Amino acid sequence: MTDNLAALCYLAASVCFILALRGLSSPVTARRGNAFGITGMTLAIATTLASPGVLAFEFILAGLAIGGSIGTVLARKIKMTALPQLIAAFHSLVGLAAVFVAAAAFYTPEAYGIGSPGAIRAASLVEMGLGTAIGAVTFTGSIVAFGKLQGLVTSNPLVFPGQHAINATLGALLVAAIIYLCLNQSPGVFWFVVAISLVLGVLMIVPIGGADMPVVISMLNSYSGWAACGIGFTLTNNLLIVTGALVGSSGAILSYVMCKGMNRSFVSVILGGFGGETAGPGQAAGDRTVKTGGADDAAFIMRNAGSIIVIPGYGFAVAQAQHALREMCAILKAQGVKVRYAIHPVAGRMPGHMNVLLAEAKVAYDEVFELEDINREFAQTDVAFVIGANDVVNPAAKTDSASPIFGMPVLDAEDARTVLFCKRSLASGYAGVDNPLFYRDNTMMLFGDAKKMCENIVKALG
Ligand code: NDP
Repeated sequence: MTDNLAALCYLAASVCFILALRGLSSPVTARRGNAFGITGMTLAIATTLASPGVLAFEFILAGLAIGGSIGTVLARKIKMTALPQLIAAFHSLVGLAAVFVAAAAFYTPEAYGIGSPGAIRAASLVEMGLGTAIGAVTFTGSIVAFGKLQGLVTSNPLVFPGQHAINATLGALLVAAIIYLCLNQSPGVFWFVVAISLVLGVLMIVPIGGADMPVVISMLNSYSGWAACGIGFTLTNNLLIVTGALVGSSGAILSYVMCKGMNRSFVSVILGGFGGETAGPGQAAGDRTVKTGGADDAAFIMRNAGSIIVIPGYGFAVAQAQHALREMCAILKAQGVKVRYAIHPVAGRMPGHMNVLLAEAKVAYDEVFELEDINREFAQTDVAFVIGANDVVNPAAKTDSASPIFGMPVLDAEDARTVLFCKRSLASGYAGVDNPLFYRDNTMMLFGDAKKMCENIVKALG
């Protein structure tokens, strides 16, 4: 394949990736976006394989077969609720790949056309230093994020005295080491850059936890993009540079949007410490009482309501209650009840989690509303049906300045005439804080699995 043809194919692949991102911005066009992404990636891989620089295929094909098989098995087996940790694990691999490519280029620069050992081009050394640092930070940071999301280590923020000072010192040391590497090209300094970055990756992520984890995931997504971009410079592969920059910048924009949605300062989340003091799982109700009911009570209240807003959350995904919920809502709509769905930006465990589940159950898009579009409607709504959600409807975020989720915008479910709150117990949600909404006069707790509860309500409505 000639250089010009390869450049043209890479350009076409880049356009496909941009169209993929555009398509993924809405559930209506997401399928088309995915198709563009797959087309772009197929074209990119085929073009790379056809380039004259590829001298032997054995290792590439073996890598594709092993990686592709592991990826296929994982993708088929993974539960949707575990996707965030899978994504974190994948990010760690991108980071590690960046470090390996940089190391290979550092030891055999002639193979990459960037000079000879001890006489590597200055620009390449800068790219290599930055790519290595970002890659190593992404690698360990993603492993810590994986551990937190998988429950292998506590998801609570780990804060200790002098943390910011240590991070700042390591950051300054890293910059100095990269400059020194560019000047003396010593292998010892190269591995010193790797070592500091690995430590920094851990220290940057451990102080973040609780409700701030979604931002960490998109932040690491952004880092992995920049790491890939760094590899692109080392390999002089324009497509990798463009793709890495696309992932890096879209991840950064998503992090910013999520921080805005959660009323967090981006810098503060990166520096850590938010989501701090947690109330512990399932803080006891003490002398407070809750009103409880069953499927029959819920069916009675819903049947007599003029309007209902459904608020799905993580437990809804765990229970896989989307089809039962849709059936329940279809019956209510047939009985003249106005049904809408309210989606919080961080409901569930990944951006768009609830939208995907509702789309899977074929809920009409025009019944699904984002927080800012529906929050005012609760005051004029008869029933807020909270199903497997918790943190995203916690009024403490608005009223309790000591709460770790204080400042995060929440769905104003408590403004509805009646709140039907379906979950299995009074346990707290991901952020580990108690929810005063359980104890409100207008709240009825429907204890039980979300799917079973919907099925029982369907029977009771029947
Ligand atoms: P929460 O994690 O706050 O609460 C979910 C609730 O679901 C739990 O309190 C649990 O209570 C209940 N539940 C669990 N299983 C079932 C079941 N089978 N049937 C019924 N209920 C069940 O979820 P939210 O969606 O409200 O909030 C999301 C949280 O996750 C936020 O804090 C967010 O910051 C965080 N997060 C979000 C990410 C994202 O990208 N969206 C990524 C990482 C974290 P019980 O045990 O009593 O049933």
